[in-house]
Amino acid sequence: MIYLDNAATTRMADEAVEAMLPFLKENYGNPSAVHSMGAAAKKALNQARRALASAIGAGQEEIFFTAGGTESDNWALKGAACACRHKGRHIITSAIEHHAVLHTCRHLEKEGFEITYLKVDEDGLVDLEELRRAIRPDTILISVMYANNEIGTVEPIAEIGAMAREKGILFHTDAVQAFGQVPLDVKDLKVDLLSASGHKLNGPKGVGFLYIRSGCGLDPLLHGGAQERNRRAGTENVPGIVGMAAAAQRAMDRMEEKTAKEERLREHLISRIESEIPYCRLGGHRTKRLPGNVNFSFRFVEGESVLIMLDMKGICASSGSACTSGALDPSHVLLAIGRSPQEARGSVRFTLSEDNTLEEINTTVDTLKEILEKLRSMSSEYEEFLRKNGKV
Ligand SMILES: *Cc1c(COP(=O)(O)O)cnc(C)c1O
Repeated sequence: MIYLDNAATTRMADEAVEAMLPFLKENYGNPSAVHSMGAAAKKALNQARRALASAIGAGQEEIFFTAGGTESDNWALKGAACACRHKGRHIITSAIEHHAVLHTCRHLEKEGFEITYLKVDEDGLVDLEELRRAIRPDTILISVMYANNEIGTVEPIAEIGAMAREKGILFHTDAVQAFGQVPLDVKDLKVDLLSASGHKLNGPKGVGFLYIRSGCGLDPLLHGGAQERNRRAGTENVPGIVGMAAAAQRAMDRMEEKTAKEERLREHLISRIESEIPYCRLGGHRTKRLPGNVNFSFRFVEGESVLIMLDMKGICASSGSACTSGALDPSHVLLAIGRSPQEARGSVRFTLSEDNTLEEINTTVDTLKEILEKLRSMSSEYEEFLRKNGKV
C-alpha cells in the first residue's frame, strides 16, 4: 500500500506505541486514585502535560486533555461563547474551517449567537482587512484554523492574534493539522485557545488537548468529576495521553528533517502532475502550505472515481476531507476558494508523510496518469471539449 492520506490520520510512531504499552498492561491505575498505582498514572499524565506544553511554548497548567480535535474545538467555541455571552454574542470564523468548528458555529447560531464567516481568497487565505472590518464591539471570539486540512494553506495566525489581543477578543486556532508539522509558539502567536489532536501527528486516536491561556475563563463542556483542575470531567485516557506526548516529542525532535523530506516529495509530486497531466489545477497557496499537502482538481473526472481506482492499485488518497466523502456535496473549502462545484468534485488530496519515498510518489503519478486517461476517455464532456477545441 502507498499511504497518502496523512491529513485523515497517521501511522502511529513506534515511540508512541512503546510509551503506551505499560499503561495498557500493568500500569492501569486511575490517576485520581490515592494509592501508588494511581500516583504512577498521575505522574505519567503530568510528564505528558509538561512535554506537550513545552512543544507549544505554554505552561503545563495551560494544557487540558480531551478526547481529540473535535472535542477541543467544541470546548473552545461553546466554552468561550457561554463564558462571554454577557459581553456579546458575535463570533468571527472563516468559511474554510473544519466541520468541528463550522458545525459548532451552526449550533451556536441556533442558540442566539451571530457568526461572521470570513471569505478567503483563491489561495485560501483569510484577509486581515476583512477581519478588521468584521470586528464589532460585541465580538467575543475569533476562531481561525492554523492550517487547512484539505488544501494545506497556512493562515496568518500571528497577525490575527495580534489584532485579537489589541481588541481584547479571545482568539482560538484549530491547530490540529499544524501541530507536529510546523513550529508553534502560543506566546508569539498571541492565541488564547489552541486545539490539537493525537492521531494527526503519529499518536493514537481519540485523544487531544486544548491549550487555554492562563486567566481565560472558559465554561466546561463536560461536567462530572474534578479531573483536569475541575475543568474537564472524565477519567483521563492515560495510555492515549502518554502516546500523544511521545509522538509530539518525536515530531519536535525530527521536525526539520521531516519538513525537508515532505517538502521535497511534495514539490516533486506537484511538478510532475503539473507538467504531465493536462487540465489540472493546484488548490491552496503555493508556498504558504503544509509540507505534505498536495490538492489537485482534475477536469472531466469525479474525484471519487479517481480515488476508487487509485485504491484498486494500492494507493490511499482522499477527495476533500474524510468527513465529507460519502456525501456527494462538493467540498466547502474548494467552493470557498472559488472553484465551481464541478471542479470541486474533481479534486483529489494527497497528504504525505516522511515514511513516503520518491519511488512511491513516482508510482502514484504514473498510476494517476493512466487512471485519468481512462476516466477522461469515457467522459462525454471531455469528448465534447476536445471537439470544440479542434483537438479531434
Ligand atoms: C482531524 C481534524 C479535526 C478533528 O480532530 P479529531 O481528533 O479527529 O476529532 C479538527 N480539525 C482539523 C483541522 C482536523 O484536521
